[in-house]
Amino acid sequence: MFTTITSIALLITTVFAEPKLELKIDNPNLPNVVIVSTGGTIAEKSSASAGGAAKPALSGSDLIDGVPELAKLANIGVVNFSNIDSSHMTPQDWSRLSKTVDQVLARKDISGVVVTHGTDTMAEGSFFLDVTVKSNKPVVFTGAMNDASSLTPDGPLNLLNAVTQVLSPNAQNWGVTLTLNRYVNAAAHVRKLQTTNVQTFESGEKGYLGYVFGGNVTRFNDRLGRIRIPLTNDLPLVPYLRTYAGANGMFIRHAVDQGAMGLVVDGLGAGNVNPPVNAAIKYALSKNIPVVITTRVPNGAVEPSYGDVGGGENLLEEGCILARPNEIDGPKARLLLMIALAEYGNDHSKIKSIFNR
Ligand code: ASP
Repeated sequence: MFTTITSIALLITTVFAEPKLELKIDNPNLPNVVIVSTGGTIAEKSSASAGGAAKPALSGSDLIDGVPELAKLANIGVVNFSNIDSSHMTPQDWSRLSKTVDQVLARKDISGVVVTHGTDTMAEGSFFLDVTVKSNKPVVFTGAMNDASSLTPDGPLNLLNAVTQVLSPNAQNWGVTLTLNRYVNAAAHVRKLQTTNVQTFESGEKGYLGYVFGGNVTRFNDRLGRIRIPLTNDLPLVPYLRTYAGANGMFIRHAVDQGAMGLVVDGLGAGNVNPPVNAAIKYALSKNIPVVITTRVPNGAVEPSYGDVGGGENLLEEGCILARPNEIDGPKARLLLMIALAEYGNDHSKIKSIFNR
């Protein structure tokens, strides 16, 4: 009986417990920085018995204990938010994360937050917070490509560099950044481009914002065109679909029939689709579902350059929203459309103005 009551109590705490901030101010002369740990390779270890594959192992507190140099820069607080591989992350998790980060930053004595996160969806997660976090204090996402038990773990230096960046006067007003392997990327532009190499994140032709080395931040660029929408409502269902040569539009039709509230379609080239996909898009539009067109191509905007059936100009005339000139990729456009629909409802002209800034 006692065991049953204890298990129920434990379950309730696990399901409903808000992640708590633990901060001990050892040196009042130093600034305070908080690490919000969510999991990912930085917090994983591999063991021969598990076939050599990495699994969640370390808490946020363990990560901090592994980098004693942090204590020279700041009093480090921690929020153990979750410990999951980032392939398990959802927009709902990022919505909770965004609120947690804002709660932490609302404290006047906290200079900024470092979020440790898996790299697989870090580009999307950091973008979600770039749009939704209300505070203007620095928020830096970091993680690792080599797990904590590898011969050359990259997590510790990435963590040290992220805290260095939070505190650097050269690194302010960048919005939420993704900083890994010394390079600082704007969340809106960063993409993961290599599956296993520590130099995996790049910002394409937009360029890096800066570089962290030897305790200093070199600033290359300012951050322009940040989109901000404070999120207060629940997120709607918005699938993201890619097109390809010979696509027949079946996934788009299925998404519409399953109750999608919006769609993001990665077109070809500057944002073109074939006639069957165009017909499926028209089916979505006929149900008043906003359809945002992005591109499979890593660099460049979606442009209304082609007037044939399914060409960018044709899609624009039919009522699609071309994701220009923001040049965000499909997965990020999907998050932006979810947030915009949640906050403004199905107002196509408002949504269009967000994607055309
Ligand atoms: N699968 C890992 C994750 O995204 C990869 C990483 O963190 O590098 O959580």
